[in-house]
Amino acid sequence: MIDYASARKAMVDRQLKARGIRDDRVLAAMMDVPRHLFVEEPLGREAYDDNPLPIGEGQTISQPYMVAIMTELLELEGNEKVLEIGTGSGYQAAVLSRLCQWIYTIERLERLSSRAKRTLELCGYRNVTLLVGDGTEGWPAEAPYDAIIVTAGAPGVPETLVDQLRLGGRLVIPVGDRFTQTLKRVTRRQGYTTSEEHTGCRFVDLVGRHGWTER
Ligand code: SAH
Repeated sequence: MIDYASARKAMVDRQLKARGIRDDRVLAAMMDVPRHLFVEEPLGREAYDDNPLPIGEGQTISQPYMVAIMTELLELEGNEKVLEIGTGSGYQAAVLSRLCQWIYTIERLERLSSRAKRTLELCGYRNVTLLVGDGTEGWPAEAPYDAIIVTAGAPGVPETLVDQLRLGGRLVIPVGDRFTQTLKRVTRRQGYTTSEEHTGCRFVDLVGRHGWTER
């Protein structure tokens, strides 16, 4: 039997706290969510390793540290409505579900979305709504959002997403070419935006109308 709780604690201590993740709610959420259930059975024992892992369809579940830093940058307090683009395994959505009120998550690949839905249900996370479609268009029906997180690499910041933030709302998105990106945080202000650049990173492509074209 693998001791997943110990693996999770080691992940939080050595990969997150040691590298400067300070938000106690983020650390507690990642201590809580069973990451091994979000990868396929044979990869369970690697689920708490310090790297991304394949989830099928050429996609990946992000490295724990990347999930933590992106989540921390959203500055969630508990009562927010959040939009995620790129459901993938559903792990990031699961972490967010512990930290905000409502999470809407869009995935373009139906098979990944339905698997993520099953996993999230199995875990009992009930405040997550899964949608299938092109997330670069956002989800206007539920806008505005307090925070938007894009977990695939984009060629630029889609204006459509910024338009769906409330004033003061934060968008966290990796922007760059198809090989490396920089994590950006854009905050919507009255009539303008402010933005900062954070760590370098490497994500799979954001494919869609306001993203990359399919290879
Ligand atoms: N957040 C995920 C990691 C996702 S990997 C997790 O925790 O597991 C990026 C995902 O974005 C992939 O599943 C990919 O299919 C999806 N994706 C890429 N372009 C997209 C788009 N335009 N709309 C929605 N999902 C997209």
